[in-house]
Amino acid sequence: MMNQSVLVIGAGIAGIQVSIDLAQMGFPVYLVERTPSIGGRMAQLDKTFPTNDCAICILAPKMIECAGHKNVHLLTYSEVVGVEGHAGDLRARVLQKPRYVNMERCTGCGECAAKCPWRVPDDFNVGLSNRRAIYIPFPQAVPRKATIDAPHCVYLQDRAKNRCRMCEKVCQPGAIDWEQQERIVELSVGAIVVATGFDPYDAGVLKEYGLGKIANVITGLQYERLVSASGPTSGELRRPSDGKPPREVAFIQCVGSRDVNYNPYCSSVCCMFATKEAILANEHDPQCRSYIFYTDLRAVGKRFQEYIARARTEYNVTYIRGRPGVIGENPQNGNPIVRYEETTAQQLRAMEVGLVVLCQALLPRRGQQDVAKLLGVELDEYGFVNAPARLRRPVDTSVPGIFACGYCSSPQDIPDSVAQASGVAARVAEMLAGE
Ligand code: SF4
Ligand code: SF4
Repeated sequence: MMNQSVLVIGAGIAGIQVSIDLAQMGFPVYLVERTPSIGGRMAQLDKTFPTNDCAICILAPKMIECAGHKNVHLLTYSEVVGVEGHAGDLRARVLQKPRYVNMERCTGCGECAAKCPWRVPDDFNVGLSNRRAIYIPFPQAVPRKATIDAPHCVYLQDRAKNRCRMCEKVCQPGAIDWEQQERIVELSVGAIVVATGFDPYDAGVLKEYGLGKIANVITGLQYERLVSASGPTSGELRRPSDGKPPREVAFIQCVGSRDVNYNPYCSSVCCMFATKEAILANEHDPQCRSYIFYTDLRAVGKRFQEYIARARTEYNVTYIRGRPGVIGENPQNGNPIVRYEETTAQQLRAMEVGLVVLCQALLPRRGQQDVAKLLGVELDEYGFVNAPARLRRPVDTSVPGIFACGYCSSPQDIPDSVAQASGVAARVAEMLAGE
């Protein structure tokens, strides 16, 4: 008899969907997430293409459904550190990091974060704002509990000096627990699902684009946070240098992708998310014009071509075929200057704009190599989880009983990740029920 429990690694939209599907079929699920909250990358997005639906409005109910399901056991702020056994009888060791906050007592009131004096760049807002050393990652976080970021907490860095402890003083329910330690949780499961998602490529590697040097050159994920109501500007599109709304925005496609010097593959979603972001620029300010510099336009999904047509005709978006060679800066006003060859006209040109957004390559999550090594699964040449029998069993990895879905398996958008996650749930159920 196969063990009927399932371990899901990664709680982005794919991991959440596969967990909900399996839980609804009656399988106990352990959902392991390395950060303090489930939600993954989708939680950072403002809208989704091609419908412009609010991302968190779709995701948050799923997060709540998943966390509240009686068959789902969440292990957040945790990482899988060991796996052995075989399909139907696998044993996993999960390391739970200390939050220094008692989860039962914490009400998620946020008082500790309001009073903590220590500030660090906020990962959730991609460095555009600061958070405190004790923090709740975002307003809709699940579980909505505080976590102390130990390397940035002045007390935890040197307990002997007994500095600060402000969070402890203001926490009415007495939830701060300095004695918490790492602990290992042993799990027995029949199957494992890998859903570890993606990380954006470090566009700073392409020095010619000036990320980190020119204030008004930002990344696609930073732009998402800028236009999000829960972001650092409360949803106002304002450029970093002077807080002014940009009148022209240039989106540069394929930054670090489709290039043998960096990542040769196509990240699959950038043409469409740049189109969405350009539409949002115009929705924020109808005077704003956007220019999308593309290699080829890839609009292969349902209603994607129509979305591009609407961007052109209704939202002041111009598509320019050409990959810019260099981005400079006008010292008078901080405007980036994009120099490019317009390949349809074979002309060298320059354009001064208020803001540049780099749509960088999306890579398998940092640490995917380590997860693959633990599980013994093959990765392909780009680091995505390999599916050796892609046509017959597209979600099976090279190891029986271990499956993969979402961006960790191949570049794909949100609807495809959700569909693939449901496919994995069906495949796991089939295996555990005995084929
Ligand atoms: Fe509120 Fe205390 Fe939890 Fe902080 S740790 S959110 S102060 S209950
Ligand atoms: Fe912040 Fe001080 Fe608490 Fe550390 S001890 S989390 S620095 S309030």
